[in-house]
Amino acid sequence: MSEEAHLREMLATLAKSLFDRGFSVGSAGNISVACGDDLLITPTNSCLGFLDPARMSKISRDGRHLAGDKPSKEVFLHQAFYATRPGTGAVVHLHSTYATLVSCLADTDPDDCIPALTPYVVMRVGRVKLLPFVPPGDPAMGTRISALEGRYAAVLLANHGPVVAGQDLLSAVYAAEELEETAKLVVLSRNLAVRTLDQQQIQDLETRFSLR
Ligand code: ZN
Repeated sequence: MSEEAHLREMLATLAKSLFDRGFSVGSAGNISVACGDDLLITPTNSCLGFLDPARMSKISRDGRHLAGDKPSKEVFLHQAFYATRPGTGAVVHLHSTYATLVSCLADTDPDDCIPALTPYVVMRVGRVKLLPFVPPGDPAMGTRISALEGRYAAVLLANHGPVVAGQDLLSAVYAAEELEETAKLVVLSRNLAVRTLDQQQIQDLETRFSLR
């Protein structure tokens, strides 16, 4: 199997896995993966549970449609991460329930919207930035991510949902799952006295695991 065929299969398999576990519903969410100089991305209005590997949308990094079905209208989110964050090999955007809920809470800290509750969110996701609301499909979605100059691997789009970049498909999917599970802890613990990891503990993890 060629590398591209393998990526197409992986994309469909992981998307179905996310859908089957309720991380996306209907035609919500989109996933992309770097494929040589180009990108493969889930098509517009497609359901993550029922993707055909042969019909994935193939686009150039500057957004030209090269082959397959029409790309997701949220393609700008993806392009911005590849363009500004070196080492990005895949991007996952979901409307997963708890991360989306945190993106709607009035008291979410925009500069650090997912607290360091566990080492895993520090290791897989890092600090998460909340970006102001932009209508879906508006190119400004990408502009806001580009303005962060690659400093964040994950953002929450206000009143919309998470976008997570990773080195490859598996790590981007795992990071999106970790972000969702941590957002769930954030919501479940809202009226509890919570101890987060302190700055020293976070720095130790970053050093130990060579995190950016
Ligand atoms: Zn979306």
